[in-house]
Amino acid sequence: MNKLLHIFTFSPVQGFISSSRRLSDLYHSSLLLSTITEKIIENLIKDSEVEVIYPILVEGGEGLANYPNRVVFLAKDCVCKEVVDKFHQVWKEVHQKVLREVLDRSDIEKDVIEQQAKLHLETYFRAYCECSTAEETKRWKEKLKQNLWQDFDNYAVAYDWTGRKLGTKKSQKPYEPLIDHYTYNGGKYPDGCTLCGERAHLAVDWEKFRKSLRKDIRHYLKEGEKLCGVCLVKRFAFFYLGRRTFPSVHDIANAEFKEKLKKFEQEHKEVAEELRSLLEQYVGVEESRRHLWDYNAELFEIKELERIKKEDKDLELLIDDLVGKLRWIYSHQLLSPPSKNYYAIILSDGDSIGEWLGLKSRKRQEPLTEKFHREFSERLSEYAKKIISLEKKDKFGLRIVYAGGDDVLAMADLKEFLDFAEKLNPLFKQSVRENASVSAGIVIGHQKDELSYLLREVRKAEKRAKSIKEKSAFCITVIPRGGAPVSFCAKWEFLNLLKDTISYFEEDIIGDRTAYDLRHIVSKFEDKSENVQVILALLKGMLKKRVNKSKLKGENEQAFIENYLERLRSFLEASDFDIKNFANLFYVARFVAKERREKSYEVVGANT
Ligand SMILES: [Zn+2]
Ligand SMILES: [Zn+2]
Repeated sequence: MNKLLHIFTFSPVQGFISSSRRLSDLYHSSLLLSTITEKIIENLIKDSEVEVIYPILVEGGEGLANYPNRVVFLAKDCVCKEVVDKFHQVWKEVHQKVLREVLDRSDIEKDVIEQQAKLHLETYFRAYCECSTAEETKRWKEKLKQNLWQDFDNYAVAYDWTGRKLGTKKSQKPYEPLIDHYTYNGGKYPDGCTLCGERAHLAVDWEKFRKSLRKDIRHYLKEGEKLCGVCLVKRFAFFYLGRRTFPSVHDIANAEFKEKLKKFEQEHKEVAEELRSLLEQYVGVEESRRHLWDYNAELFEIKELERIKKEDKDLELLIDDLVGKLRWIYSHQLLSPPSKNYYAIILSDGDSIGEWLGLKSRKRQEPLTEKFHREFSERLSEYAKKIISLEKKDKFGLRIVYAGGDDVLAMADLKEFLDFAEKLNPLFKQSVRENASVSAGIVIGHQKDELSYLLREVRKAEKRAKSIKEKSAFCITVIPRGGAPVSFCAKWEFLNLLKDTISYFEEDIIGDRTAYDLRHIVSKFEDKSENVQVILALLKGMLKKRVNKSKLKGENEQAFIENYLERLRSFLEASDFDIKNFANLFYVARFVAKERREKSYEVVGANT
């Protein structure tokens, strides 16, 4: 290896993505970062002497957020400065374009907004690039030999050394306070941005600004929103990326309803067309869609429409017509209204990736070489492709926000989420290596919960999954509206136990009360193996009373109970007799089962 090994990265990534109000913010910000990485790679490979080791450039990856914020490559000479400059140049192109497109659609005074936005945007990202000279690599190789008694491959030495240099550089970032004293409305200082809270919002009268925007983009800003330069660019990133729709959390939660709309449209053509035409009048002809399922599920909710009517008197007559039509459809049972509120966020990444690419690794069981790293990148790229192929564009139950490197972030409804989560680890093993694994955090939250809060919780859940011995685990946190979060964590091999427990609740085989009674019992015991016998005995007594024989589809009741208890016992043994977690298994299962059940029309406000 005569070329210099380079590692390039930029930050912040987490902060940029997580401060999102809507799924489309989250999707667009992920896609934006991925697109910037893609541009960096495309620019690098223009030089025929450059070889990119990680990540692999995917052909036809249009619209997919599948590049991480890290690039490893070889170049003949140091190109660190060029790469960092290129990054800032691309970012500048992005924010200038987006800002121009937005401001051109408003007649408001642009100067101050532009200057202040520039202040926020130009200092936002930091880019880092490091490489190792042949001299440095040689010296580090000697040191390693003296201290670890091992002669490492030159590639491994350069990768290790460059990584160290990069880490040091990132940790030394100089503190540069942002001096932002822009004012508006005759000297008024802006408060914090309502989206990220990290910077002041742009010094403009936002109500006036929103109203001044052309009608086709006005609805991208909600009433009361006041954004900083960074968040404004995020919100309107589609001006750079091209317009792409990403469903709302409400759409994901109500994926089944959207499926039903397809059938409804086929079976009741006339009524469906009448309804579509009313929706078209409501959202405006520019936003017209061909099919009912192209419209947000929220627009089929009578309660929601009534709420909008109170806010916007101009729409009163139109909403009355729409509500009238929907009532008629629902009361004639041609369709049942969207009634689901909960959806799942799944966050997953590879276990011990640092170790896989470390100098010494028990996992890799071979020296770290350029060839190994290349293959590893290709395998990760394979994995990401497989994950993306699980999403079906004409179905709404699963949407991948990003799948880059070993990282995956997805949204799913409560029917699909476990079927998806279940595939992560096997697909990773299949693509990468049998002894590789992933862990995942899952959060079940309400569509009205703040997205950034749920994203924080899913990150916590992932961390908990990773804290399980040897990892290869998942952790599900249920956040009931207005209640405290409840988590259940286990190794992947017990996901089936959870799935079955959910279906036992769903099919009414074990009564709903079991979850509460078990929680009550468990609260009196400590985590000790001898208590497990007592708890299982109590559970057995409970199941004997509760198991609904008629729902067992011919299975012998006693055999069912024995078999189930045996599986629960082995789970308890494998999880160090954590009985609180054990009780949470039932809580989580019952919660999912309850939310999956169909709710009747009356509940959704026929009498409003
Ligand atoms: Zn360099
Ligand atoms: Zn902001």
